[in-house]
Amino acid sequence: MIEIDGSAGEGGGQVLRTALALSMCTGQPFALTRIRAGRAKPGLMRQHLTCVQAAAQVCGAAVQGAALNAHALAFAPGPVRAGDYAFSVGTAGSCTLVLQTVWPALLMADAPSRLKLAGGTHNPMAPPFHFLARSYAPLVRRLGAGVELQLRRLGFYPAGGGEIEATIQPAPGPLQPFDLHERGARVDGFAECFAPALPRAVVRRELELLGAALGWNGPQLREAPGRQNEGPGNALLATLAYQNVCEVFTAFGEKGVSAETVVRDLVREVRAYQVGTAALGPHLADQWALPLALAVWQSGREAAYTCTELTPHAKTNFDVIERFLPLRFSTAGADGCWTVRVRGA
Ligand code: AMP
Repeated sequence: MIEIDGSAGEGGGQVLRTALALSMCTGQPFALTRIRAGRAKPGLMRQHLTCVQAAAQVCGAAVQGAALNAHALAFAPGPVRAGDYAFSVGTAGSCTLVLQTVWPALLMADAPSRLKLAGGTHNPMAPPFHFLARSYAPLVRRLGAGVELQLRRLGFYPAGGGEIEATIQPAPGPLQPFDLHERGARVDGFAECFAPALPRAVVRRELELLGAALGWNGPQLREAPGRQNEGPGNALLATLAYQNVCEVFTAFGEKGVSAETVVRDLVREVRAYQVGTAALGPHLADQWALPLALAVWQSGREAAYTCTELTPHAKTNFDVIERFLPLRFSTAGADGCWTVRVRGA
């Protein structure tokens, strides 16, 4: 039984999700204590509980202690079963995080899976749908697996109600790791504002301010179409596509926060990435560690990537991954360009 202290490092939900994902992939049981002790509201919130339940359903796990607000649990996985699944967070909690929990195990299953996920699709402090679809999924495909994602309905805090569909096609053989040192030439850059229930003037103002700051105009500024009855919400996205990687940065508007503030926050993130030379931005850098580590483990080869920042999320994720897989992460560099290498222990 692998014992994990959920307060270590970043002390957030990713410790739980990475442990669930790798427990399913490797068949090793784990016990987690002090769940999300680093957060203002520690313990299992609805979205974390949904991750546990989804993981348990996919592999027929025996689970102890998983309840709302619980601070400890034990998870003993069974064999992963590909198939058709539907998971609903039941609140506006992020359903992209539920997808990321079961995705690695289903990549390694013996048949394709189809998932329907309901909850928040664009949440602060979670990967927005468009980040998963444009930044994360293409890298997973390069490991040799098939992944298709569709956004059926936007879901924002507090109404939720978003829907995503995912089709996961396992790789025909071991996942194949690859190095990612360079972004490559820039091929596209554009902004979108997803704010289905807001006046169009607000949407246009955010896009114009962002365009002025980043030097984007015309078709680079996109008022994303909303569907009927999508609840209020306001996600402003900047997508920067390069030959080897695509980064999606997101800022969220809320009542009482000016368009200027939303745009300023987003521009800060985009500029921090643009002034660096590394391939991956801070969010991809922590999330890419897990699928890449699986590929290194399965293939017996090593791999590396560069990233602009080495965040507490990234370092904590490396530590949790090392608990489950016989691998070692090493890092070198400085802000703007870190190199992360993963190889057999
Ligand atoms: P945790 O705080 O431990 O629940 O983990 C949150 C996860 O969401 C981490 O993997 C973050 O990198 C990711 N995340 C947070 N904000 C964003 C964002 N704007 N874009 C992409 N990923 C994000």
